[in-house]
Amino acid sequence: MKPLGTPYSPSATRVMLLGAGELGKEVVIALQRLGVETIAVDRYDHAPAQQVAHHARTIDMTDGEALRALILAERPDVVVPEIEAIATPALEALEREGLARVVPTARATRLTMDREGIRRLAAEELDLPTSPYAFCSSLEEMRAAVDGAHGRDGIGYPCVVKPCMSSSGKGQSKVDVPADLPRAWEHAHAAGRVSGERVIVEGFVHFDYEITLLTVRSLGDDGAVHTSFCAPIGHVQAGGDYVESWQPHPMAPAALRRAKEVAGRVTEALGGVGVFGVELFVRGEEVWFSEVSPRPHDTGMVTMVTQWQSEFEIHARAVLGLPVDTSLRNPGASAVIYGAVTADGVVFDGVPAALAVPGTEVRLFGKGQSRPKRRLGVALARGDDVDRARERALLAASLVCPRPAS
Ligand code: AMP
Repeated sequence: MKPLGTPYSPSATRVMLLGAGELGKEVVIALQRLGVETIAVDRYDHAPAQQVAHHARTIDMTDGEALRALILAERPDVVVPEIEAIATPALEALEREGLARVVPTARATRLTMDREGIRRLAAEELDLPTSPYAFCSSLEEMRAAVDGAHGRDGIGYPCVVKPCMSSSGKGQSKVDVPADLPRAWEHAHAAGRVSGERVIVEGFVHFDYEITLLTVRSLGDDGAVHTSFCAPIGHVQAGGDYVESWQPHPMAPAALRRAKEVAGRVTEALGGVGVFGVELFVRGEEVWFSEVSPRPHDTGMVTMVTQWQSEFEIHARAVLGLPVDTSLRNPGASAVIYGAVTADGVVFDGVPAALAVPGTEVRLFGKGQSRPKRRLGVALARGDDVDRARERALLAASLVCPRPAS
């Protein structure tokens, strides 16, 4: 990277975020602190990161031509995808032509936007342990994959059905008995990102707990890429969406070693630099790879109160080729604040009470539209131990109540 410059001048270091949600907002803030000029792109105006960036652009990022035209018009030094629904072939073409540097790489962005790409890489190329799985294009194929066919054993029950192009539990269902398969198929198709797509069926993993292992690839003094790990983050999911997270999550030394090995291998195969959120299932000393985001992870918002450098600061530094510090400062927890109501421009009751909980912070993302299940904010809490921090974060989140403005 060239030396950091000055915004709005020819020397500026310019970073474009594709996706301007709450995670992008924190990345922009971290970049701003380093005097980087930021361009936040989303499909709607006034998205969270657009509110804090130097420039806001609104386009349909799944439209390859529009995406290419915007990147060529802005010519940022770095393009940072923050969401999955992006026309990744356009990014790959620009990278190949030497017209854009994509973080971590355009290929990693393509592979991880599609459950099939990343699962085949992890399980078939890298031979990492995953749940048993099959990709299916019809209900009949799915039934054969789960129940077995032509003398082959099936995945069996319970299993989990997910659209290949989805994240955060959208369109996902657990199937306990054969009669539930049609409903799961319908649900996956109603919620997937694109119509008529394939689904993945996974065998259900009876894990003791699941973690996000934030894995960082950054440049060392020697100019080579080094891998480092944040302390494991434990989390609770409801309907496939994160509701609560904490750090550190205690792990048996052998399980932690194995988790680092799995995360190190998958991120090395994806390449580039930056933070990766590697999701793993753990039972005893056994570890299964679940999925990976080539960017900061929602469960990692807790790092804003637990680490010397949050995952967002680490991402900003790594992207710019700067040194990072992944060390833990103190235990902490996060709890999601949901919209609760359907309304535009909500007001938040209870913020003073939430902030009066000791060791607590609140982040309100500034999203214009509220829906009951939409994440509008997060409560963050420090504590002497994780249990204390979780209590505080849950209490603070429960005290913040969105309601219509009038
Ligand atoms: P995903 O969108 O793939 O991250 O899934 C969301 C959540 O659903 C995970 O964090 C797990 O809690 C649960 N889940 C997904 N796949 C499986 C599986 N194969 N076995 C057990 N739980 C799963």
